Amino acid sequence: MTNVSLLDLSYDELADRLGAWGYPKYRVDQIWHAAFVDLATDYAAVSTLPLDLRQELSRSLPLAPCLAERSLESPDGLTRKTVLRLADGETVEVVMMDYSERASVCISSQVGCAVGCPFCATGQAGFVRNLSSGEIVAQVLYAARDVRSIARPLSNVVFMGMGEPFGNPDAVFQAIRTLNDPRGFGLGARSFTISTAGVVPGIDRLAADPLQVNLAVSLHAADDTLRNVLVPLNRKYPLDILMAACRRYAARTHRRITFEIALVAGMNDRPHHARAVAERLDEMLCHVNLIPVNPIPERRDFRRSPSLSVHAYAEILKAAGIPTTIRDSRGAEIAAGCGQLRARRRTNS
Ligand code: SAH
Ligand code: SF4
Repeated sequence: MTNVSLLDLSYDELADRLGAWGYPKYRVDQIWHAAFVDLATDYAAVSTLPLDLRQELSRSLPLAPCLAERSLESPDGLTRKTVLRLADGETVEVVMMDYSERASVCISSQVGCAVGCPFCATGQAGFVRNLSSGEIVAQVLYAARDVRSIARPLSNVVFMGMGEPFGNPDAVFQAIRTLNDPRGFGLGARSFTISTAGVVPGIDRLAADPLQVNLAVSLHAADDTLRNVLVPLNRKYPLDILMAACRRYAARTHRRITFEIALVAGMNDRPHHARAVAERLDEMLCHVNLIPVNPIPERRDFRRSPSLSVHAYAEILKAAGIPTTIRDSRGAEIAAGCGQLRARRRTNS
């Protein structure tokens, strides 16, 4: 377990701490402003605070629980991936996308992942530990500093980096609450998207949450035998159970669910696979993203679906009335697929 950082605390928790130390309330606002508006990484730079408080904070509530280790930019300059080193030496990755207009950032919720999808680099590496809410917040603040330097607003935060967000729900929800707090960072709840491999209790919790956070579900296949292989978590939450949770979510929130389908050549990219998906999603408030899989070195047998198959798949869904987008695996040149940069560092290739 890592030490608690300032970013692990809510505003109220910080106020309690400062109150116990005998500081007045306006100090809380100054600290919160420094961390979430000025995006400070070192208390030494926060000149509004008295020296003794700065020293106390540096000792007991560090401001930056991670450090950028290395970055790779795609040749078109639209995607940039950074490995962040955490206090215990573990690493996570942050991917910045769409640099040209409004930036989105793809962040991690865990070091590694226990779900073990065979086409995913993170899944191959196994589970190491959950991130704290502060470590999740820190990734977004890192991205915000990065886009501030090129004068772009940070418009979207997606939990599509390493890990299963609903495997670490308390930290994920707390991080969103902290970043949403209008006294500080103030990013609207609708700017967040949680992507899940299909953890049903997590979907129900999100449906019941007052914050209007978006949901993406990594579907990949609409029959249990195939999905058991592509997303081993399907054995725990099979499709009937998962789809029922998605329908409950849609009925309760009236928000459109995004279904992600990574297409693997010859495995889940045939017309009958598309028809099965169309049947499952019939009459549901949703959108489908088709992503030709980004092959990983560990599993060369999971090859990218050819463009012809991807388009044919998309046409079947569209003909069934399901809004569908084909996404290129942007940044494939810099190994921007889930967990791949970190995996590369570990194997030193
Ligand atoms: N664990 C969550 C969120 C992180 S993975 C989930 O699975 O939804 C984010 C997305 O990246 C998922 O849709 C996942 O299927 C996809 N993904 C992982 N590896 C990929 C690869 N090699 N090529 C294309 N998409 C991949
Ligand atoms: Fe985990 Fe998502 Fe990768 Fe599957 S795709 S192993 S759930 S991070």
